[in-house]
Parts: sequence; structure tokens; C-alpha cells
Amino acid sequence: SGINQSHIDARSTHVPHGVVTAHPIFVDKAQGSLVWDMEGRRYIDFVGGIGVLNVGHNHPKVVQAVTNQLGRVSHAAFQVAGYDVYVNLAAKLNKMIGGDDPFKTLLVTTGAEAVENAVKIARAYRKVPGIIAFRGGFHGRTLLGSSLTGFSAPYKQNFGPFASEVYHTSYPDSYRGISSDDAIRALNDLFATQILPERVAAIIIEPIQGDGGFLPAGREFLQALRALATQHGILLIADEIQAGFGRTGEMFGFQHAGIKPDLVTVAKSLAGGLPLAGVVGRTEVMDAPAPGGLGGTYSGNPLACAAALAVLEIFEEEDLLAQGRALGKLLGAGLHKLAECFPEIGTVRGEGAMLALEFVSEGDPFKPDAAFAQAVIDECRAEGLLVIKCGLHRNTVRLLAPLNTSAEIAHEALSILHGAITRA
Ligand code: PLP
Repeated sequence: SGINQSHIDARSTHVPHGVVTAHPIFVDKAQGSLVWDMEGRRYIDFVGGIGVLNVGHNHPKVVQAVTNQLGRVSHAAFQVAGYDVYVNLAAKLNKMIGGDDPFKTLLVTTGAEAVENAVKIARAYRKVPGIIAFRGGFHGRTLLGSSLTGFSAPYKQNFGPFASEVYHTSYPDSYRGISSDDAIRALNDLFATQILPERVAAIIIEPIQGDGGFLPAGREFLQALRALATQHGILLIADEIQAGFGRTGEMFGFQHAGIKPDLVTVAKSLAGGLPLAGVVGRTEVMDAPAPGGLGGTYSGNPLACAAALAVLEIFEEEDLLAQGRALGKLLGAGLHKLAECFPEIGTVRGEGAMLALEFVSEGDPFKPDAAFAQAVIDECRAEGLLVIKCGLHRNTVRLLAPLNTSAEIAHEALSILHGAITRA
């Protein structure tokens, strides 16, 4: 019954089942950290469009920037005629990530496309085919994106054959006793048994795995990986699509390790709700593809570029990084308190405001309890809090709150979580 239900029924008839909707609600409007469904119910949104809304829904500066740009030009195709917001944004990202080194930025529309282009650019530069990715990694739903993705159903089920010359290796897991040394050893084994390092164009890594369970690779591993890549002339691609733009307490996840990747993929929260993604990398590498080899009709859409410039301004003017750190502390402390109360919570994971609760049965860290996690999610929704699972780690519930969420709303969310776990 109700408006939500009639839309859910229509959805089932008209939209393929391969697209799931985690919550049986339809959103009518949103503002800041809140959304309202079509029946007027209010929810605290700790999904943020899957990590897109670090500045919150409909931030007034983003709305203003997009409105202004709409009055100028909404589409031109950068391959046909340039426009200032693309170049201004590229310059900002190059400075943010490259610092004093010469960097360039290619803008595209989705995260998966950014990953595809990073691989193409790396292959064009290195002129060898091999790409190494990590188990538990998620890099998007295109064929190359899912080839790189390091786990199977439902992302890969029945979609093959996948891209060749993609190799998977172990990601460190401090929660499960896979150390940085273990993971480096596995990589060297791969070089010894499956592909010579000189045949590898790039290694792609999420510095903190998102769908794989909010799992930080750790400083030691990222530094060792950087050194190993440099030693062999292999390019290091950091996929910052989920962890980027202040989510983890640094602007980018790799900054926790003090390393600099050769290429960085960004998307999600870059444009505060509009579809935009990019590959930001060393000029020498970015210039490897032949003229005409990169681009796309909608790539770097002017409205999305204007929104992204506003987002980066919000970071500066409202010190969103500091706000995110404070929120991460508040929520992290709250989640640790919950973990003390409930034996069903295995680990509190993540970094900064990229936080998750892992649920296990009988307090056994090796007994994942996905059904319990689902029950917590459903109970949260019933009380007005939206959260979702990690894509692979089905027993892990992730929080991706807008970084400027007020302490009041954060406390309200923690109290809903407490009640939900009690009832689950
Ligand atoms: N890479 C990472 C780390 C992601 O988390 C995602 C999306 O969740 C992607 C790539 C794919 O991005 P998109 O869904 O925009 O294609």
C-alpha cells in the first residue's frame, strides 16, 4: 500500500531485476543529511548516494554553481569546443594531487570509465598489457571494471569472458591476519609464477577497500607497494573513487601513507551529486595516448564541472576536511561503544568518516552474519536511518554520512543504530 509501494510495483515491471534497490522507498526530496520519501517520511541519509554526497544533498553553493552554468552552457562536448570550467577543474585537481609535479586530468562521467581510462593510459605509456588488481577490490561494472574487480557473484556472474592480462593478488587484511609482508610475498609469487614484472603496465589498488569491507591497506603496505612498483617501472594507480575527497580524514586515502601514485581515479563525491569522474596523473603518462584516443560525448560535462568546482570551494571555505575528521571521531567513538555492548559486532572498520560495522555470529570473527546485518539495515530504515551493506562484505554495514552532518543528527543516527541492533 502507499505511494512507495505503487512505484515499487511499477519498478518491478519496467526496470530489470539486475538493478537492485536496497531500500523499498522512493525519494521525493533531499537536503543536507536528510531525505524524504514520497509518503513524506524523513530519513537520515548515511548512504549519501553511495559516497557521493560528502557535501550533503543540494548544497546551496552547488545548486548556485549549477544554476549559473545552466544559464551559460550545459553541453558543448569538449572534443568539439572547450569550456573554462573543464580546464579550471583540471588545474585544481592537478595541484591537489600532483603538488609541484606536472600532472594532467582527463574528465569522464563515471567511476568505471575513469578506471577504464586509467588502464588504457597506463598500457599506452608502458606498452605492455599486464594489470594487477586485488582480491576484494571493486572497480566498477563495465567489462574491464568487472574484470579488475576481485570477487565474483553477482558482479561477474554470467558476464564473461573477461578482459585478458588481468591478475589478482592478496590485499592485506589486518582484521584477518594477512600482513603487509604476506601481501608483498604474494605479489612477488605472482611475478615469479604468472607474469614477469616487465610485462605489467600497472597495479591498481583502493588504498582503503570500499565494497570489499572498508578495509585499509595500511601505511606499511602502500609504501612497500610504491617502492616495488617504482623498482620495476610499473605504474601505481590509486582508485580513490569511494575513499576520495575527505572521506577518510585526508583528502585522499593514499595520503595516509605519504605516497604519490602515478595515476589516481576519482568520481563519486567530486561533483556533489552530478555525474563526473576523472583520471589525474603524471603528465608524461597522461600524454601517452595518441590525440583522439581519449574522450566521450558527455565527458567532463560543464554542469558537472561547475558543481565540482563548487565542491572544492566548499572544502576550502567550510573546512570540510576538518568537519569530516570531527564527524569521523564522533561516529567512530559511538560505533566502538556499540561494539562493547553487542557481541554481534565483530569489528568496527574503516578510517575517518568511512566507517562500517561488521556483524558476526557467536562473537566468532570467522562467522560472518549477513542476515543479521540485513536485519539491522531494515530496523534502521524503520526508525528513519538509511544505511547499506558493503558490496562484497555482505555482513558489513557501511556509513557514508555527509561530512558536514551535524553532531545532533549523528547522535540521532547512533541512537537509531543502537535500537536497531537491539531489535535485530
Ligand atoms: N571504484 C571504486 C573504488 C568504487 O567504489 C566504485 C563504485 O562504487 C567504482 C570504482 C565504480 O564507479 P561507478 O559506479 O561510478 O562506475
